[in-house]
Order: sequence, then C-alpha cells, then structure tokens
Amino acid sequence: MKILILGGSAEARELAERLAPRFDVTTSLAGRVRNPAVPAGAVRIGGFGGEVGLRKWLLDNNIDAVIDATHPFAATITENAAAACDRLGIPHLILRRPPWPAGDAIVVSTAAEAKDAVVAQGFSRVFLTSGRSSIGAFLFSDAWFLIRVVEPMSADELPERHHLLLSRGPYTLGDETELMRQYEIEVLVTKNSGGSMTSAKLEAAAALGIPVVMIDRPALPENVSTVSTVDEAQQWVTERDTAEA
Ligand code: NAP
Repeated sequence: MKILILGGSAEARELAERLAPRFDVTTSLAGRVRNPAVPAGAVRIGGFGGEVGLRKWLLDNNIDAVIDATHPFAATITENAAAACDRLGIPHLILRRPPWPAGDAIVVSTAAEAKDAVVAQGFSRVFLTSGRSSIGAFLFSDAWFLIRVVEPMSADELPERHHLLLSRGPYTLGDETELMRQYEIEVLVTKNSGGSMTSAKLEAAAALGIPVVMIDRPALPENVSTVSTVDEAQQWVTERDTAEA
C-alpha cells in the first residue's frame, strides 16, 4: 500500500514512524519551518499547487490512501485533500487531535475577533501564541505583546510594542508560569490547537488567574472519516490492508 501522510504535526511524525516499517509511506511537509523534525519513510516538501496539483501528484505517485494529519488550523490543505481524494475515489482519513476544553476562555472564531476581545477588555500586556498568521490582526494595537513564534518575523509584520520569542514546544508548566510572571502578562491569546506539547500555557494562565482568549478551530470538511488518535489511524490502515490482501 502506498500511503501519503499530510504532515506538520507530532501525530503525523508518530504515525509515519509506526507505518514506515510495513508500508510505502511518504510524508508531505509544507516547508514553513527551516529545520523540521524529519519523519520516518520518504519525505517531500512544498505545496502541491492547489487541489489540481495535489490530484496530479496522487495519480503520478500511485497513492492508495491519504491520511491528513496536518495541524487543526491548516484548513486549506485539509479542504484540498478532501476534494482531491473525493474526486479520485482515494480512501482518505483525517487524524485530528482532540481540542482543549475551552473552560472559562473567551472563545472567538478568528484572529480579528481575538483582537477585538483583547481591546474590549482593555488588556494592555498580551501573550500572543496564536501563530504568525494571526499576528497581522494585532498590528495596529496600542497594547504591548509578548509574541512567541517558531520562525523569525520582520519588524513590519509585528506590532510596534512587542518582545519576540522564537521557540518551539514542548513547554513545561514551570517555564510557562515563570514567563507569564516575568512579562506581567494580563491575557493569553491562543488557538485551540489541542495536544499536550503546548497545553502548559493554559494551566499556567489558570494558576495565575490570567484570562484566555481562544480561537476556535475551523470546521472539518463534510463526509470524511475522522479519528483523534494515532492508534486509530494505524488501525484504519491495517484494516484496509487486510481487506485488500
Ligand atoms: P494551510 O493554510 O492549510 O495551507 C496553505 C498551503 O500550504 C496549502 O494550500 C498547500 O499549498 C501548502 N501546504 C500546507 N500543508 C501542506 C503539507 N502538509 N504538504 C504540502 N503542502 C502543504 O496550512 P498552514 O496553516 O499554512 O500550515 C502549513 C503547515 O504547517 C501544515 O502542514 C500544518 O500541518 C503545519 N502547521 C500549521 C500550524 C497552524 O497553526 N496553521 C501550526 C503548526 C503546524 P498548495 O495549495 O500549493 O498545495
């Protein structure tokens, strides 16, 4: 069986690790990060050229099944993969880790709404952890920002008053608590990414009584099988393999 894993998440790497000894596995990465953790099996890097390009790639490479294990906020590639697999009749599974419980967070749908919530509540020291694509919404805000992203950003992409932290999880409760104390953070802005690698910030915020503005996930495509664990995705592949044998 030739399997394409759409990657960019810890779950995608773990799935590749488990499947590569038994199947012909290729992981596709968008190429956003300079030194990505390299998954087991074959790896290709860069966009496909939209849904049409993805369809061509799937046909050219005789792919038998696609597992979309991208980050929960990677909505475009997820839509493209669903459409391409549907049109070609290729079995397709979405692996999405469960969301975090929102708890007392102010839940919003977009980065622009997150900015509005921050302004409406009058917060002046903001910990922005919602990813580089959301920072533009905060560009002309008067608040001060602690901004944490993986890759460097240029000054014109950032609000005027900020401190930029370049790092990649996992993070610990102790370190997150210390960070929020050190920078006198008043509000945490996060996507609802889910997973344990970056969840310590929520515990730290709760312990310090810091409110959270949480950007909700984009909707999943309709009529696509979805699982939430690597175990379930592995089982899906094994069942298809057994059925075909
Ligand atoms: P996106 O908005 O859904 O995708 C934008 C374009 O990037 C897609 O149309 C596709 O280009 C290309 N692309 C995305 N994922 C790809 C993949 N796995 N392999 C090949 N091409 C891919 O995605 P994004 O939010 O920019 O995220 C990009 C990647 O970073 C994803 O793979 C995701 O798993 C990872 N990531 C995202 C976030 C986040 O918060 N969004 C966080 C951590 C990791 P073409 O149309 O040319 O095919």
